[in-house]
Amino acid sequence: MLKNVKCAKCVKCGKEYEATPTTTTCECGGILDIVYDYDYIKAHFTKDDLEHCPDRSMWRYRPLLPVEPDSAPTPLRVGWSPLYKADNLAKVLGLKALYIKDDGQNPTASLKDRASAMAVVKAREAKAPIIACSSTGNAASSLAGNAAAAGIPTYIFVPSRAPKGKVAQLRIFGATVISVDGSYEDTFELSKAAIQRWGWYDRNAAINPYLSEGKKTVTLEIMEQLHWQVPDFIALSVGDGCTIAGAWKGLKDLYAAGFIDKLPRLISVQAEGCCPLNRAIQTNTPWEPMEENTLADSIAVGVPRNADKALNAIRESNGITVNVSDDEILAAMRLLGRTQGVFGEPAGVTGTAGVKKALELGLLDPDSTVVSVVTGNGLKDAANGIKAAGEPMLVKPTMEALLDAFEENDIHP
Ligand SMILES: *Cc1c(COP(=O)(O)O)cnc(C)c1O
Ligand SMILES: [Zn+2]
Repeated sequence: MLKNVKCAKCVKCGKEYEATPTTTTCECGGILDIVYDYDYIKAHFTKDDLEHCPDRSMWRYRPLLPVEPDSAPTPLRVGWSPLYKADNLAKVLGLKALYIKDDGQNPTASLKDRASAMAVVKAREAKAPIIACSSTGNAASSLAGNAAAAGIPTYIFVPSRAPKGKVAQLRIFGATVISVDGSYEDTFELSKAAIQRWGWYDRNAAINPYLSEGKKTVTLEIMEQLHWQVPDFIALSVGDGCTIAGAWKGLKDLYAAGFIDKLPRLISVQAEGCCPLNRAIQTNTPWEPMEENTLADSIAVGVPRNADKALNAIRESNGITVNVSDDEILAAMRLLGRTQGVFGEPAGVTGTAGVKKALELGLLDPDSTVVSVVTGNGLKDAANGIKAAGEPMLVKPTMEALLDAFEENDIHP
């Protein structure tokens, strides 16, 4: 029994379930949210505990996480990624204060490691021999890596469009990889049928209620790294919606447990070519599926699995929604790289592209303090990095050729 958890509650109908390691969805089809006992947490967890905690990983927040006290942490170091004060970029954007949380520095190079580490711990608690998931890429590579380190085999379904770097990670981590010739929606449905057929442990977003609990550690960290000074906004890229829902959950947990005295607003950023959640907020209508028309593969999600939780999070936080074009995403890749030395994959920098656009549209007061989360590393998708920044000049190995090339490229050392 988890002492800090009361139950798992359906976000649609409110029905409550005992939170067991294999708890999935409500009988009504709704997704479950883990409900905590904040009185218990307040009595057992303080800022002072954190100050003296030597654990530099997401597991330093264990009292706020749904794991058994004696569950071993995962072998790879997940979490405690750097939070940079991004003064160069803030200046270019004309923003009072900007912080970049570089979650590309996780062991498999994306924020998804936080959810996959949680899935591995829960699968071990469930004594499950095998874990499976479908993914646009990063959930897959993070599950494969974290499970490999824990000695658990994985079955992983990815759409065939997944970038090579991510597929290489899967193969290197020894996953059984099924590349599906179809959309992410098709991939998800096939994985669901296979999981039912073989009874694997399910690490699919929105079916497994523990994943957003893992992802929430990103905002727990941001707040601790800011010494509990609450920023005005936190910007995130949104696909399935599990990340933004988890980020919001972490903030609400800290508020309920008395660690912070107010809540920031969320900036939900999607790609123009695939923005079903933002469109629902902007038109104030129920969300509807969209085509997956963006090069930001990690957020090319036409049928978002965590729609209910994500829409609640954006609305509750009085959030801002911004949609950005693929060109704006590529421009943000260059801008982050050149001003801050941070290389994000397309979906990784989409949040930052959204901050820029929100300022341009007048949706965001330049006098704000903003945290932008970079959710994945650019080396995962080198092809789009080159697309963003172009090929370098090619020269013969002589000084003469070098001088010519400098002349041609208007470079004056
Ligand atoms: C998965 C992912 C996202 C979006 O998270 P969702 O939970 O699908 O909304 C954003 N960026 C990257 C790099 C991701 O891998
Ligand atoms: Zn229900």
